Amino acid sequence: MKIAEGYSKRVCALLSSILTIASMAGASSDVRAHWTMNDGAGTDLTDSSGNGNTLVGKNFAYSQGLNSAAVSLKTDGELRAENSESLNPADAITVEAWIRPWEPNFQDSPTFVFKDGSYVLSFVPGKKVGFRLWVGGKEHLLSSKKTDWKKSVWYHVVGAYDGRKMRLYVDGKLDNEVPMSGKIDASDSPVFVGTANGKHFLWNPIDEVRIFGRALAVDEINKATLAGKFEAERMDARHAAFFHKGEKRKPKAVVPGYIWVDAEDFDEYGGWWMETQFVPQVGSPYMLAAGTGEPVEDAVTTVNVEKPGTYKLWVRNRNWVKDHNPGTFNVSVNGKKSDTVFGTEPIEEWVWQDGGIFELEAGDVELKLHDLTGWYGRCDAIILTRDMYYIPPFVLEGYKGEQRRLTGRGAAEKTEGDYDVVVVGAGAAGINAAISSARMGAKTALIQNRPMIGGNNSTEMGVPILGPADFGKKNAREGGLNEEIGRLRSFNFMQKWSNGAEVIAAGEKNLTIFLNTHVYDVERTEGNRIVAVRAFDMIDGHLSRYEGKQFIDCTGDAWVGYYAGAELMRGREPRWMFNESNAPEEADIMTMSGALMHSHTLGYNSVDTGKPEPFSGPDWVWDLSFNTTNLQARKGYEKTHKSGSWWHENRNDVDDLWNPEAARDGLIRVSVSYWDWIKNVSDSKEKAANRKLLPLPVTNAKRETVRLVGDFVLKQDDLVETVWFEDAIGHGGWGLDIHHPDAIFSTEGPFDFNTHISMYNVPFRMLYSKNVPNLMMAGRNVSCTHVALGTVRVQGTTGMMGQAVGTAAAMCVRYGTDPRGIYQKHITELQQQLLKDDQYIIGLRNEDLNDLALDAGVSASSEKSALFSAQNVLSGVSRIVGDQMNMWASDPAQDMPQWLEVKFRKPKEVNAVYLTFDTDLNDAKRATWEWKDDERMPPECVRDYQVQLFDGSIWTTVAAVTGNYQRRRIHRFPSTKASKIKVVVNATNGDQSARVYEVRAYNE
Ligand SMILES: Cc1cc2nc3c(=O)[nH]c(=O)nc-3n(C[C@H](O)[C@H](O)[C@H](O)COP(=O)(O)OP(=O)(O)OC[C@H]3O[C@@H](n4cnc5c(N)ncnc54)[C@H](O)[C@@H]3O)c2cc1C
Repeated sequence: MKIAEGYSKRVCALLSSILTIASMAGASSDVRAHWTMNDGAGTDLTDSSGNGNTLVGKNFAYSQGLNSAAVSLKTDGELRAENSESLNPADAITVEAWIRPWEPNFQDSPTFVFKDGSYVLSFVPGKKVGFRLWVGGKEHLLSSKKTDWKKSVWYHVVGAYDGRKMRLYVDGKLDNEVPMSGKIDASDSPVFVGTANGKHFLWNPIDEVRIFGRALAVDEINKATLAGKFEAERMDARHAAFFHKGEKRKPKAVVPGYIWVDAEDFDEYGGWWMETQFVPQVGSPYMLAAGTGEPVEDAVTTVNVEKPGTYKLWVRNRNWVKDHNPGTFNVSVNGKKSDTVFGTEPIEEWVWQDGGIFELEAGDVELKLHDLTGWYGRCDAIILTRDMYYIPPFVLEGYKGEQRRLTGRGAAEKTEGDYDVVVVGAGAAGINAAISSARMGAKTALIQNRPMIGGNNSTEMGVPILGPADFGKKNAREGGLNEEIGRLRSFNFMQKWSNGAEVIAAGEKNLTIFLNTHVYDVERTEGNRIVAVRAFDMIDGHLSRYEGKQFIDCTGDAWVGYYAGAELMRGREPRWMFNESNAPEEADIMTMSGALMHSHTLGYNSVDTGKPEPFSGPDWVWDLSFNTTNLQARKGYEKTHKSGSWWHENRNDVDDLWNPEAARDGLIRVSVSYWDWIKNVSDSKEKAANRKLLPLPVTNAKRETVRLVGDFVLKQDDLVETVWFEDAIGHGGWGLDIHHPDAIFSTEGPFDFNTHISMYNVPFRMLYSKNVPNLMMAGRNVSCTHVALGTVRVQGTTGMMGQAVGTAAAMCVRYGTDPRGIYQKHITELQQQLLKDDQYIIGLRNEDLNDLALDAGVSASSEKSALFSAQNVLSGVSRIVGDQMNMWASDPAQDMPQWLEVKFRKPKEVNAVYLTFDTDLNDAKRATWEWKDDERMPPECVRDYQVQLFDGSIWTTVAAVTGNYQRRRIHRFPSTKASKIKVVVNATNGDQSARVYEVRAYNE
């Protein structure tokens, strides 16, 4: 994957090195040991320096680390590397570790790295870090000046010695140093990590431990700190981390007499939040005082005033609840406060307010935003002008033109390239579409208007990926990309499924990702074909254009289809239209509400402060006391004195599509109104007495807006009656889960209906546009009724659709056809390709004529029972269906290794073997790929194995794998004539049986 130049450079650099923070230090030379702690299985932690200083462990656990796993010791735990020459540098040394302390007992000197008689890095009494060296037979201790360690924050701690000085660095900065000379004493002590030979335990996580035979330079240490901190922040989902300040403008007068300052130009945001969700509607990012009732810290910047004189101040802001003025603020210029209080205009639109006159000298002038309420005041831009008659434009287009004129930003459009497939929107659907298209060989662009991929599942939103398996369906978790990404995420303790997707996408050479890029238009030829999409950068506004042959709309909002003139559906269809008993009598434009989401917070979160925390709702909250009985009866209510629930929603007539900012603001009002009700009305008020509301999430995860109409519209009966589709491309099985249109105000509970249905297949015809020939769609904007959206919208299912359309798009390019052509002429091939790529389609089996193994004979070292016979690996189905196991499992009473042999009728040229192992698609707990700790490697999954080929006389090993945790593995090798393939299983991740669902062989 490439990530496009510009604003996203930093993200690009970091993503591509996501698995190797160390490499970012740019100083791999003379590394003596490097324990990444990412091994995941067994008791040995690999030394990736190549010096073989394996860290042998006992009683330790994996947990979330910086970019992947970290380890922590349990009682009597140990991590020990035997002494070696490489661990005894004499002239210079660096000892480095990442630690995440949680109230350590400093008196006990919890230890990070310990080599008795040579070097130690640890905490020491006085709340300090200590770096100890033995030089000339004497012990020398250098303690840190730093003593304030926050709970659960990752710290980068480095001790270095260059033959002249001992130095301690914390978080990339030199903390303390002392002169020192002489050679470091060699010792025969092993190196211990996390303990000093059974004493001084560091009970908290430790990660990325390195020992060098030289002193790292400060810039090398700094680079490693930055890389690690960035990863830690990403995992904490701090959105601001993605805002690349390095490219910010220094405001000055581009047009004489006018200085335009954008919110994003500020040097320090203070407690203000950089809001980039609503750029298409607002015209630019803006600053939001998200303090939840407590004024946030000032935002500050300086601008350059070339000419002294009288300047008029204009401030663009919005009063988000007119007549109540919830979010107000002051602006001061060089310390002088404007008389105007901003956020007070009696209209809920973005407006410019006149801030009065200021006399300014030439030179740097300080601007300060001073929040007055903490209730979501907002400032988008500031103008200082010498033109006293000037009035800035209020209307969006005029505003954008003026912004360009006064900032000097050009309006020239850059063509970013000619792609085979252009995917717009990078939720689960778009991600899978783009990866599968690229894997099929199509040159693919993925355009995403957020600073990261993931959509609702991204680190900024965090909606878990659910599917049929979470709705009580047996053996129902998706395979394919969903599982591959999910397994990677789980193995690496990543925050979200989408973090795993970033890593997988990074490996795709045919894929380019454009972040912060919002598609706002398309170019068409006659016949409604799309030729290109047009976009602007969400931060600096620059324009770009992307040509393509096939387009996939995964925006959730059907924007590409809308601009292309595709037929759309919106709101609730009337009952008669699709004969749906769950539909309302009359059509309306109700769409299910979104919710405030941020990482792990849904709606709101609160904290117990141990003292009474009275809360008096502001005058703009809604009174929910009329609905007390119903709210108290809702599922999940009992937890809402702590945190929000999915039914903290807007009424369904709120417009998430055209007015998303107002929809988000409505959700803020819902959360605060509900909290007011909890604190002052509900029967939970005692439980909530000491609880304080934390800052609310400000991102609106959307659930429903618009759908594109395809050749087929999926409706209630197709799902309730489980209709067979000849063009099935994958399965779903979430219920018909439609929320009540009155949402939090509903006196009938949170659901309109929630009907359980069986697992079903999704037809391909609902994934391409009826009237735009080269447009496909996946996600919540597919061709289905409002009722059917109740099931297909969950991300397990949208991800599955994404894989199908990405595969189909690449096939369109290959055959020079459009999606309808795929349906008419190549649907079997599409289905077989999807099965080959581990997607499940109910009722279909592997009939791939290119699979050399299909008509082979099979034998195995042992079988668990007739149900698990070796023959099952050629059943053509690679999951349990009903009472069919469809897998080989060896006799659990027999020791490993166990083997499985596929014997061709006659020798064949083979260059690829596809294996499908068991990762337990039935386990509901694992259905979301959210599982942690010792479950990162499903016990059923084959861990260590070999693939061998028999050419008639000798066996050759073509693949030898240790530490596997993936369900699907593909092994490619030079084409070889073989009569037999053997899979030798040496170990599993815990199960007593070797378990294999499928073996495919190809010459491709
Ligand atoms: C509060 C809430 C809870 C939910 N709970 C669950 C759950 O537990 N499990 C589950 O599986 N599903 C859940 N859902 C449903 C699910 O999250 C959505 O249906 C799903 O995210 C839709 O996927 P998508 O890929 O179509 O859209 P999204 O995930 O929204 O991704 C679309 C992406 O496209 C980007 N985009 C939009 N327009 C443009 C443009 N013009 N140019 C470039 N990029 C653009 C968007 O910013 C977004 O990042 C929930 C939804 C909500 C709102």
